[in-house]
This record gives sequence, structure tokens and C-alpha cells, in this order.
Amino acid sequence: MNVLVVNAGSSSLKYQLFDTNTETVFAKGICERIGIDGSAIEHKQLVKGLVTSETRPMKNHAQAMSLVVEKLLDKEYGCISSMDEIEAVGHRVVHGGAYFSESVLLTDDVLAKLRLCHDFAPLHTPAHIQGIEGCLAVMPGKPQVLVFDTAFHQTMKPEAYMYALPYELYRDYGVRRYGAHGTSHRFVAGEMLKILGKTEGTRIVTCHIGNGSSISAVKDGKVMDTSMGFTPLAGVEMGTRCGDIDPAIVPFMMEKLNLTPAGVSDLMNKKSGFLGVTSGYSSDSRDLQKAIADGPSNPHHEQAKLAISILKLQLKKYIGAYAAEMNGLDAIVFTAGIGENSTTLREAVLTDLDFLGVDVDKELNAKITRQSNNVKISTDASKVAVYVIPTNEELLIARDTAAIVSAI
Ligand code: ADP
Repeated sequence: MNVLVVNAGSSSLKYQLFDTNTETVFAKGICERIGIDGSAIEHKQLVKGLVTSETRPMKNHAQAMSLVVEKLLDKEYGCISSMDEIEAVGHRVVHGGAYFSESVLLTDDVLAKLRLCHDFAPLHTPAHIQGIEGCLAVMPGKPQVLVFDTAFHQTMKPEAYMYALPYELYRDYGVRRYGAHGTSHRFVAGEMLKILGKTEGTRIVTCHIGNGSSISAVKDGKVMDTSMGFTPLAGVEMGTRCGDIDPAIVPFMMEKLNLTPAGVSDLMNKKSGFLGVTSGYSSDSRDLQKAIADGPSNPHHEQAKLAISILKLQLKKYIGAYAAEMNGLDAIVFTAGIGENSTTLREAVLTDLDFLGVDVDKELNAKITRQSNNVKISTDASKVAVYVIPTNEELLIARDTAAIVSAI
């Protein structure tokens, strides 16, 4: 089935056209600066290996969708000759609240529930709705499926998703842990379960470590706990996000720095993490690795080392905590930009975990490249299998969409 996967962000729209039978991508691209001056599209036709970029006004995501369709139908850069060749659309949705525990076919009721998720993801939800409405406008009648980043985490028990706040905050406002990156955790956990050859009785920790990072405890193929919380600010240190801090620091900062709620949220979401710990040097782990490799002559050396050490320690704590929560550990998976690429971070996290039965093969670990596919980096003697598995959220969205639409 030909499935168009759409990922509508606050000012961008990414897309990929899949053939789900062969799991190949015909075309992909990105519309950027939607609703801002200088909006542009970059479109790649992968069958012929062609790339085209163009600056075109896009006032909203609906206009971006018509441009995407124009490119897909283009005589030179396109890959389909008629809209009928797109059989379904799959949307990535950041937050489905407690309404959605699996991917669903779009209906009026589904759209109404998605609107209710606005407060949980105020930047993303309106963009998703515009992307969906854009598809309804340019492809009327085409089946659309929504795949939620929060859905995989809906198997958590109340003791894992509830905060020790007055219960009314949960009842009246939905304040609880929802988690994020669920599609990525589901994809890599699924690959790991195939490698383990079973689902029942398995205990896996999945580490999605990129610009945004989250860790999940997956027992019997279901999420038991996850590090992100009510919002994607919780958990470990990230590129610009602080992760878990003592909540009392929030009112303290507001008072001392004279910050509004929006101001303190901006500080914790955009000015913290690697960027904050290095006093504004960089949010990109590659820059931090360079400052570390340069040695003390680099003015950012010490703080870069500190920023990376904080993340390493936090990852270790999560692995230990989740192993305790699941009563043991069979596998650890690393994925996303840093998880797939940083040999040193993986090695540091996995060293001195022998009490859990983890034995990393340092040579194998050092050989991994971005092109590597599902590689084992633990020794044969290791009781815990450790793998680097490249994530592919778009493929999972395409698979879910094809499965749901085939069953209509
Ligand atoms: P996002 O969460 O935005 O999808 P990614 O998963 O692409 O982000 O991760 C981005 C992070 O991955 C950045 O910190 C970047 O430095 C890091 N990264 C990408 N390539 C490498 C590499 N070769 N070595 C180390 N880190 C890398």
C-alpha cells in the first residue's frame, strides 16, 4: 500500500511516501518556516535520486500540504501520476492524552478528542489539526490514520503515571505522566523482541537519546514506566531541556530572576540541558565532544565534560531503577542521534554495570556507524544483550496506517 506519512510540527511539515509492501520510500521532504516569512520546501525523489528546493509562501499547514502534493505529482521530481496512487495518510501526533492507547482511523469523534489534547501540546496540536485538515482539503475521502507518541506508554499502571500531588489535579486537569517518543520506543523494542525471539517474560530498557531524550522500561512488550512525564521536559538532561529537577527550584527561579510562568518554562525548555550547563556554548553533543577532546585549552572543556557526565550518570540511574522495577533485565537498546552515534557515551553508561550482568564489547561498540543496523555491542558472556538499533518512527507510522486501512 502507498502511504503518505505526515509529521506536522509547529512551523514545519515533514513527509515520506512509502510503499508498505516493500517498505521502501519513494520520496520525502520538508516544508519549513510555515506561517513565517521565507517559507520553503525541500523535496527528494529517492527513486531517481533527485532533489529540489524552492521558496514558496505557505501561510499554514494546509497550503504546505497542497505544495507537497504538487511535488509528488511533478513530472520531473514527482513519483506518482495521480492522487489515486496515494492510498492512505498516516499522521504523527505528539500527544493523545489518555484518549488514545493505539493508532486510530480518523473520524469526527477522533478529531474532537484530539482538539481536547491542546493543552498538553499547545505548539503541536494545532499544527497536527491543520495538517489533517490540509489532507482533507487536498485529498478528500482519503483514509487518514493518527499515530500517537504517547500511545505506547498508556500501559503504565497508576503508580507509575500518577504524581504525588492533590488528586484533583489529575481528575480535573489530567495532570499525570504521559511519556513521549512512544513510537520510537515501540519500534526499537519491537526489533529487540524479534532478536530475543519472544515477548512474554522479557525485560528491556530502551534509551532514545537525541536532542530530546527518554528512557522506557518495557516488560512483556508493554511499557511499565518511562522517563518523560506530563510534558517532554521531564527525565534526563537533553539538548536544551533540563530534565528532572527539584520542583522547588521553579518558584525559586521565578522569584530570584523575576520570571513569569512562560519565562521559567522557556528557561527550562530552551536554555537548559547541554546548552545551559555549558553557559550557552552548544546544545549539540558533537560540539561538546569536541570541546572534551580538545582538552583544557578549549574554554568550554570543563563545562562540556560536566554536561555529558550528568547525562551519563542519569542514564545509569534509570537503567538501575528500571531493572529493579522489572525485577531484572534482558536487554538494553540505544537509539536516536546520540544513542546511535556516541561510542563514548554508550561505553561510559555500560561500564560498571556488571552487577546487573552487563558486559560491553568495547571493540564492537566502537565500530558502530550511523549506517549500522541492529548491532549487538555486548559480549556473548553478557547476561544482558545490549544493542544499537536505529529508530524509524515513519516506518512504524506507515505500517500502522496500512494495517488499519486494510482492515476497513
Ligand atoms: P531529535 O531529537 O531532534 O530527533 P536526533 O535524534 O537527530 O535529534 O539527535 C540529535 C543529537 O544527536 C545531537 O546532539 C547530535 O549532536 C547527536 N549526533 C548526531 N550525530 C552524531 C555523531 N556522529 N556523534 C555524536 N552525536 C551525534
